[in-house]
Amino acid sequence: MRVNYFCTNANNYDMQKVIITGGTGYIGSHTVVEFQNAGFEVVTIDNLSNSIIEVLDGIKKITGKRPIFYQTDVSEQKNLETVFQEHSSAVAVIHFAAYKAVGESVKEPLKYYHNNIQGLVNILSNMLKYDIPNLVFSSSCTVYGQPEKLPVTEETPVVKPESPYGNTKKINEEIIVDTINSSDNLNAISLRYFNPIGAHTSAHIGELPLGVPDNLLPYITQTAIGLRQELSVFGDDYNTPDGTAIRDYINVCDLAKAHVFAVKRLLNKTSRYETFNIGTGKGSSVMEIIKAFEISTGQKLNYKIVNRRAGDIEQVWADTSKANKVLGWKAEVSLNETVKSAWEWQKRVQES
Ligand code: NAD
Repeated sequence: MRVNYFCTNANNYDMQKVIITGGTGYIGSHTVVEFQNAGFEVVTIDNLSNSIIEVLDGIKKITGKRPIFYQTDVSEQKNLETVFQEHSSAVAVIHFAAYKAVGESVKEPLKYYHNNIQGLVNILSNMLKYDIPNLVFSSSCTVYGQPEKLPVTEETPVVKPESPYGNTKKINEEIIVDTINSSDNLNAISLRYFNPIGAHTSAHIGELPLGVPDNLLPYITQTAIGLRQELSVFGDDYNTPDGTAIRDYINVCDLAKAHVFAVKRLLNKTSRYETFNIGTGKGSSVMEIIKAFEISTGQKLNYKIVNRRAGDIEQVWADTSKANKVLGWKAEVSLNETVKSAWEWQKRVQES
């Protein structure tokens, strides 16, 4: 179904077009901004199962332009095909649309296998049918599990992930490789994200968890603003310097920019399929994130230490040298600035 958010611009004739699925979601919306800023015309597809239409207003405030939008489910081939038919001149698809709650995926695995896998199969079928040659896929560091050696490189073995959600990422990467091997004209890059946090510095877009947040930073900002009573820190007895778990927290705008670098590399036709780690190359503990939040915002956070959470790994961070050298991309925004951007966004959400 086409929603009436089409913005035509007579000067856009020579623009290269990209299709972004999940484009009103957290990472997708920041990526729409980066592609529009880089001069691409953007077609977004989202079924709004985990985002709201008003995100398009935020994108327009930042870029001056509302992307073309379809409220369409990527797991339903019939409606999806109409979008590909209309936009077969697109040079690439950036595929974010998926469910992402690890805990929910354990309880409802089929919901995840259906949405995340059928969605990709439909996207690939349409790309082959309408001859759109380049795909950037949202993968995750969950494909590495708890690696024996840190930091994690792209050569680190992919293991059976802990959750059905993580497994959909592993299976999707395999589906992409098999499809590329069977075709002459399909190329792809899988970006394996570490932990995206923060918001656009304008505070017009950011992470908008519907319900109780699954991730650390939205929980921190919601606690600080009074929506949650207390943050639970899951475990302080890990084998890490302060005992709390370590992750590689990557600024969402830095992450979004990596997709533009990936599409530009695909357009140069240098390789059929590649994977890249997208992180900062530095691990931060939960306590370090709490301290960074308190220092950069001046807010005191109410938190307590509780038992470890089942399924959480101890520590993981990325070796990003392949993305730095081959893609020419590098994380730039500091942890303090990123945490502050999440707080500014939380305050904006509270006001509205
Ligand atoms: P998000 O939930 O904010 O965005 C996903 C968007 O896809 C939402 O707007 C949702 O409405 C939409 N969507 C879901 N199923 C759909 C369907 N069948 N058809 C159309 N739209 C659909 O999530 P996000 O954090 O922006 O994540 C984007 C992608 O990055 C996902 O594939 C996720 O698995 C992956 N990823 C996220 C993280 C993270 O921590 N946020 C880490 C690694 C990988």
